Amino acid sequence: MKTLSLPTRAILALGFFCALACGGLAQQQTSLTDQYRDAAGRLIGAALVDKPGWEKLTYLTTVIGHRLSGSPQLERAVAWAADAMRADGLDNVRLQLVKVPHWVRGREYVSVVAPMERPLPMLGLGGSIATPPEGITAPVVVVSNFDELEALGQEKISGKIVLYDVPWTGYGPTVRYRSIGAARAAKLGAVGMLLRSVTDRSLYTPHTGAMDTRSADATVPAAAITVEDSAWIHRMADAGREVRVKLYMEAKMLPDADSANVIGEITGREKPEEVVVMGGHFDSWDVGQGAQDDGASCIAAWQALTILKQLGLKPRRTLRVVLWTNEENGLRGGQAYRESLGADISSHIAAIEMDGGAEKPVGFGLGLAGVDPNSKDPRYEAAMEKLKQIGRLLEGIEAGEITRGGGGADIGPLMRDGVPGLGQRTIGERYFDWHHTNADTLDKIDPQNFRKAVAMLAVMGYVLADMPERLVEAAK
Ligand SMILES: [Zn+2]
Repeated sequence: MKTLSLPTRAILALGFFCALACGGLAQQQTSLTDQYRDAAGRLIGAALVDKPGWEKLTYLTTVIGHRLSGSPQLERAVAWAADAMRADGLDNVRLQLVKVPHWVRGREYVSVVAPMERPLPMLGLGGSIATPPEGITAPVVVVSNFDELEALGQEKISGKIVLYDVPWTGYGPTVRYRSIGAARAAKLGAVGMLLRSVTDRSLYTPHTGAMDTRSADATVPAAAITVEDSAWIHRMADAGREVRVKLYMEAKMLPDADSANVIGEITGREKPEEVVVMGGHFDSWDVGQGAQDDGASCIAAWQALTILKQLGLKPRRTLRVVLWTNEENGLRGGQAYRESLGADISSHIAAIEMDGGAEKPVGFGLGLAGVDPNSKDPRYEAAMEKLKQIGRLLEGIEAGEITRGGGGADIGPLMRDGVPGLGQRTIGERYFDWHHTNADTLDKIDPQNFRKAVAMLAVMGYVLADMPERLVEAAK
């Protein structure tokens, strides 16, 4: 063994000292930002000029169209996506069969019959029952919230159609009336329910969406009308003018139908059994084209994998795309995916969901089961730091902001069982203008914003699947 010369020892000693004293610097030099700068640059560059992703979204929204659970369009979309994923060269492309609720709208309308006659644009609410064949004609009683409903009580509600003219105070609080409003009104003897569409801005467009029919022991036919008509009926009531309407709906629930989650992946090169999963929901309401909600997200996650494949970037772990079925009126796809994992769920490193439309993206929010994002939980803080390092790779497209709290409906079952969840976020300026309407069409999407979403999912998905450590170390 050769004795080390004095200068060599000095250098080694200095090195040892630096490893201790310059720990921060050393860590910075090997940050995820530095490690993945080249790969991220290639991914972003490819995504921002990518054409096939937009072509897929165009085909889905234009040729196939909206895709409610149980509809032939959804199953056409499922079959097409699986074929096209195979053509893209993704690995292990497969369908995960899922039984889904099958509600059909049928013909429907609402007309004012007194004090004048005019039709009102409307959309029946998902899960609603039908009216009798002759429809329901009754006076409208207007309330602004459940307290007003209860205050009026059975005496004033019985035999009437209740209109919830509830001002928008955000999606969460306002959507409660769509979920349980019909059941609450039915309990007091109402014969029908109308809802001011759940949106903060309207150009005379009704918005549909699911009712919560699980726990309702009574219900009535229910439909959304426009913000404008809702406000008009409310003003008429305030002026002492009774508005009578005729509600006609043929809606019905059929036996569960066959559907499927579409799954494709890039198999991990070192730890194929560990998985980062990302995607959106492939079903939509039976209006519009399911473009913002949620076709764009599905195609963005899928195209992110396709671009990785084209660039020959094979992450350490498996990166998987799932196009979940039946988010809108059942969540059966997300549940079936979770159940299929069984105890293997611990192999899921992270789940990323995009279900907020394809406006200009800004970043991701992190959610971790049982952890208050503001509690300074050390596991959460460590994950935030890693995500911020990855987020810096997306600064060039202004899509790397990492915020506290996040997730999504389809990854909810995974998150509840401990998988860290990331919700993709956008500026969210106009999403709820189009949400669940006939206006949710391809023309509302800026192709370049869509391409940025592809870029951010490609970078985040790739780094999470490739980085040496897991995003969150398994709880001891
Ligand atoms: Zn959605």
